[in-house]
Amino acid sequence: MAITNSSSKLWFVLQATVWTICLVMVVLLFVKPEIGLHAFWDVLIPVAPALVALLPGVWRNICPTAAMSQLPRHLGISKKRKMPVKTHGWLILASVVLLFLIIPLRHTYFDLNGPATGVFLIVSTIIAIVLASIYDGKSGWCASLCPVHQVEKLYGQKPIATVGNSHCSECSKCVTGCPDSTPSASPHLGGKVWARRAATFGLIGAFPGYVWGWFQVQDYATLSEGLANIVNTYTIPIICGVATLALYALFISVPLQKRKVIDRFFAAAAISCYYWYRIPWLLGFSQFDGNGMLIDLSDTISPTVMTVIPYVTTAFWVWWIALKRNGLRSWMIRPPNAQNTPEPVGITISA
Ligand code: SF4
Repeated sequence: MAITNSSSKLWFVLQATVWTICLVMVVLLFVKPEIGLHAFWDVLIPVAPALVALLPGVWRNICPTAAMSQLPRHLGISKKRKMPVKTHGWLILASVVLLFLIIPLRHTYFDLNGPATGVFLIVSTIIAIVLASIYDGKSGWCASLCPVHQVEKLYGQKPIATVGNSHCSECSKCVTGCPDSTPSASPHLGGKVWARRAATFGLIGAFPGYVWGWFQVQDYATLSEGLANIVNTYTIPIICGVATLALYALFISVPLQKRKVIDRFFAAAAISCYYWYRIPWLLGFSQFDGNGMLIDLSDTISPTVMTVIPYVTTAFWVWWIALKRNGLRSWMIRPPNAQNTPEPVGITISA
């Protein structure tokens, strides 16, 4: 299925709506933290992995940080520097390192601290805007340093639909291997540089264990309590991540075609681990009293039903990401090439 970009106004309305909702949410994080925290960590974030996996193009079009980062480009004030392939690779590696650093901090700081989460979102957005005002297209943030981007490529390998690209009316070839326009994008997409390869290996291999390990740690109510338990908070996800990374390392000598199948099973494992715990936690079934709860339905929903739900979501993700055949589909329709656009320096594409 392809959704054409005939209605850029529709994207604009969607972007403005999501942006406004997120602005309200950020304000709430400071003035009514308990509501803002629920809205961000218990509504927006739990929806995001599924949206990224099923409709990554829609996510990329409506993401409020992406919209903000693309402002300098749309206003014509970006310096539009071409990002060298090596720099792109290093930023991708940095994005994976940031992802692994930030996730455990949720337990020690962000999950229960509205202003801290608000400051984190504002600072991320400022960095995104600054980078995008220097580098061309999406190369400064959305296709490189954004900590979510490599997860987009990991989960979004089989999008339901290809949508129009609301940010790129013309393609200036801002990155090597456009994640938006390349069919069946994966973390292997990008230049054949050491840093990008290391990021790809680390993310695909370690992420399932890291996610599983994260759910074995509780939230800490105060910063001092969180700091006192910071080693534990990192150690458990790291040990679990290293375990799945070692398993993944056993497989990487196989030809790339088979490796893609293995990659998809690891991607399915990571998102399955997430929803295996996240849905019960949202409904009041956390093993840690009330952690990550949106609404307490522990007296309403039978524990048997709640035991079955994780198996259903896991079966769905394994089928969708690892087993289902849906052809080679890109997240977005490739826009026409802009005139006089050189390839990024040192171009090599691996998909
Ligand atoms: S479509 Fe072109 S300009 Fe837009 S992100 Fe992809 S490579 Fe960059």
